[in-house]
Amino acid sequence: MLDEQQAQKLKPLLEELMRECDYVERRRHDPVEFAWEYKERLDRELVALLSSCLAYGRVELLKAGVKVILELLGPRPTLAVDEMGPDALAGELGEFVYRMTKGADVVDLLIAIRKVQSEYGSLEAAYASAPEDDHLSRASFLVQKLRAARVRDEFVRGLRYLLPDPADGSTCKRLHLFFRWMGRGPDGIDLGTWEVLDPADLIMPLDTHTSRLCRYIGLCDRKSTDLKAALEVTESLRMMDADDPLKYDFALCHLGISGSCIHKRSEEHCPSCPIESVCTL
Ligand code: SF4
Repeated sequence: MLDEQQAQKLKPLLEELMRECDYVERRRHDPVEFAWEYKERLDRELVALLSSCLAYGRVELLKAGVKVILELLGPRPTLAVDEMGPDALAGELGEFVYRMTKGADVVDLLIAIRKVQSEYGSLEAAYASAPEDDHLSRASFLVQKLRAARVRDEFVRGLRYLLPDPADGSTCKRLHLFFRWMGRGPDGIDLGTWEVLDPADLIMPLDTHTSRLCRYIGLCDRKSTDLKAALEVTESLRMMDADDPLKYDFALCHLGISGSCIHKRSEEHCPSCPIESVCTL
């Protein structure tokens, strides 16, 4: 984790990284793009959660998978899920496979989202109605509600993978990505759809790629990519902006996604990298 002096040194470099990031172009290569297409809050919640749950693997491939589902659901996904119901959805998505996610997992997720939205009014309201009011407890509460609202009796691995519970100690990168989209902004990247979620409470959506980058620049010392590492990175980022620590996430993450950082020293990439002077790789 950073100390105060390191944070002061890193902050202007991360600000430079953000300035150099072409947000319009990079959004085209990010699953957050889908949710921007929907104006209704409940549609946005549904599309954002679906897209973030499937945000693993190569961006082009995961986006192709999400696109298949969204084309089926049309301009009002919440209404389409209600009209079709689990049986028709299962018929339409029977052949769907994206890596370890099968059509039946997607049906479970879509129906669960609609059930929770119907019961509480929105996913945001469900999140806010958790008995404890800290972010991780609320996140876990929402996941538990969604899991319980699935179609199938059996809680299969595919759905567990889509809906990990932060209480289990894993990073839950895709879930925290969803919260970032909902809680920050709107700023052209994050949607800012939820009012109940304070950006200061967000937790870094950490995966193996971003955790390596975070280690290079001292945001984290832990070798494991787990919840403790995500919390450590978040604490480091809070030293640079306590109100909005995740404002740096998109630019950092896309350093890897864009191929600008190939996770080894390179004459082609490193000299022009804004964080080169603090990178320990
Ligand atoms: S200096 Fe090179 S290795 Fe370090 S983060 Fe930048 S591109 Fe990656």
